[in-house]
Amino acid sequence: MASGFVDKARITVQAGKGGNGAVSFHREKYVAAGGPDGGDGGRGGSIILQVDDNMSTLMDFRYKRKYTAPNGMDGQGKRKFGKNGEDLVIRVPRGTLVRDAETGEIIQDMSGSEPFVLCRGGRGGWGNSHFATPTRQVPRFAKAGLPGESHEVILELKLLADVGLVGFPNVGKSTLLSVVTKARPKIANYHFTTLFPNLGVVWVDEGVSFVMADIPGIIEGASEGAGLGHDFLRHVDRCRLLIHVVDVSGSEGRDPVADFDAINEELRQYSPELADRPQIVAANKTDVMEDPALLEALRAHVEALGYPLVQISAATHQGTRELVGLTAERLSTLPPVAVYEPEYVPKPPALDASAPPEIQHEDGVWLVGGPWIQRLIANVNFSDYESRMWFDRMLREAGLFQRLEEMGIADGDTVSIDGFEFDYQR
Ligand code: GDP
Ligand code: MG
Repeated sequence: MASGFVDKARITVQAGKGGNGAVSFHREKYVAAGGPDGGDGGRGGSIILQVDDNMSTLMDFRYKRKYTAPNGMDGQGKRKFGKNGEDLVIRVPRGTLVRDAETGEIIQDMSGSEPFVLCRGGRGGWGNSHFATPTRQVPRFAKAGLPGESHEVILELKLLADVGLVGFPNVGKSTLLSVVTKARPKIANYHFTTLFPNLGVVWVDEGVSFVMADIPGIIEGASEGAGLGHDFLRHVDRCRLLIHVVDVSGSEGRDPVADFDAINEELRQYSPELADRPQIVAANKTDVMEDPALLEALRAHVEALGYPLVQISAATHQGTRELVGLTAERLSTLPPVAVYEPEYVPKPPALDASAPPEIQHEDGVWLVGGPWIQRLIANVNFSDYESRMWFDRMLREAGLFQRLEEMGIADGDTVSIDGFEFDYQR
């Protein structure tokens, strides 16, 4: 976007890896061989998103695109736990949609103030102190930490406002916003003045207020990709009501009825749902009206379509109080600002069976590990029969049991798969 207003960004986030469990044995004078005392690895840092109301654009994400949380530390002897990796908190403006970069599905709508865990840090591995059993007193193995989750996401800002101003450039939208709120948008007598969406709070009465958004003017043909305008329409997507500002002064030789229809057509092209949003028509610049017939033609046209019309002059404030009053009244009957439901469902990772599981034979135990196994294990719920059967089938299909046979495994031997143990039976 030419304006420098950044409302879309693509970033990669990576949570920290869990620290490895330690292999260590208790040493003491006069004690020949102490028990296993290797501590667990620490958890990797997670990636957390948090709304920051001091931010109004996604500018910060334009240059920094990769965010990595620290890893957990490895466990140590004497049952010392590794330190957890610190969570990495990424601040975003309110109204940021987080989408999966691949599918575009919504992962989370950052409209509320609750922090959101986008990627979990990997669990730390168990130290060997967990693996002592009466029959195996000297466990020389520990679990490796699990990898942290990672994700490529698109951040997309969709402002949170009750009311959106729509209309052609130069019809007085920014002027209206500056008159009814404390916002101070740029106002100038040329097209495309407003390059940044602006938000302002309209104070109506004790305890009654609403948020109004001013976006750059829509131009005809924007839906076909001409110029600005359409990119910005997403900022009124959530609005509960639109104030459609039309210049009725005739000073630029415009036809208000044709303008009104053209903008509605552009809205429809962008989203039929947005075009059906309740509208109040603000007939502006009545202070310099050359031909009242233009106003009356617009009034007849929009009222026949069921829209109320308020005649105003943003410049002289005439009618703006009435417009605000009517807007507040309508809003009180409308549902709250839209918050989007998450659509994204994490898919189980694709398992690459081509890399064979790693097998070690130690102390009468068959240790099976490797990245493939780790990813597989992460998807198994061992308290669920179906899930265990799936796990068993995956191992079989990967040729694990066949390889164990070839390596000489015997019935009753212990197989330890990433710390999960069972006795081997053919
Ligand atoms: P926007 O592009 O729709 O945001 O329009 P602006 O608010 O920037 O206004 C464009 C021009 O119209 C500026 O020169 C304003 O001073 C002028 N203007 C806005 N409202 C009125 C009005 O009610 N009466 C008159 N005479 N001029 C206005
Ligand atoms: Mg403007």
